[in-house]
Amino acid sequence: MRFANQVAVVTGAGRGIGHAIALKFASEGARVAVVSRNENNALRTADEINERHAGLAKAYSVDVANHAAVASLAEQILSDFSRIDILVNNAGVTRDGLSMRMSEEDWDTVVDTNLKGTFNCIQAFERAMIKQRSGRIINIGSVAGLMGNAGQANYAASKAGVLGLTKTIARELASRGITCNVVAPGFIATDMTEVLPDKIKQAVIGQIPMASFGKPEDIAAAVAFLASAEAGYITGQCLTVDGGMVM
Ligand code: NDP
Repeated sequence: MRFANQVAVVTGAGRGIGHAIALKFASEGARVAVVSRNENNALRTADEINERHAGLAKAYSVDVANHAAVASLAEQILSDFSRIDILVNNAGVTRDGLSMRMSEEDWDTVVDTNLKGTFNCIQAFERAMIKQRSGRIINIGSVAGLMGNAGQANYAASKAGVLGLTKTIARELASRGITCNVVAPGFIATDMTEVLPDKIKQAVIGQIPMASFGKPEDIAAAVAFLASAEAGYITGQCLTVDGGMVM
């Protein structure tokens, strides 16, 4: 039980990768604050955890892009759980389109959710971690933030921004016993990639040495490693989990 007596906050835990991360932490003993935008999705994940490990999970809904709402959510979670050991900033969206035709709204939605949302959550929880003089922050990036991707100017910029944010937070908090790292998934089978046309899926698979999409559990395993005691001397890094797509 690597995470017994620890508290993990996972955003975007209602579905997909965040759901797998929340289940992983609970399966290794952590109490989990399951955060999603849609309340029913958050409740579904929390119920699933509590059915297997009674009383470990509690559901919360918030729009991570809303600075004030995230601040009051953090107060609520800290009052419910009394501490936070692990923060996983996983909530994310895509609004794809070529830059020439990308609307201002699509730019703002993606950058506000993926980048500002990550900052909002870090700022809301870092004080508690600093007081405890320990903590693990794991931000979910993307291979798109490392290599760019045609049709994803907003998304790639937001995920590249998450890398710069991560390195800065890692430097600011290292002396307080807090690490901050990125896990950058390649193409993972979730709702986000399910919507891609078959032609694009086949083209993507052609670029992956392991010749298949990854599973949410592949990302959860990497996140759990970075959250564990064994990863205590790793900070400011990006761990790419992509079947060899970027190397
Ligand atoms: P999904 O679309 O399956 O799930 C996204 C999750 O994020 C949902 O739980 C959703 O909440 C939540 N969310 C979205 N917007 C907000 C918001 N404004 N406030 C709070 N929660 C929000 O995506 P994935 O599981 O595939 O992706 C998870 C992360 O992994 C994202 O950051 C994504 O960019 C990244 N990633 C995914 C890849 C992939 O191939 N799937 C590849 C690289 C990176 P709700 O369920 O309530 O709507």
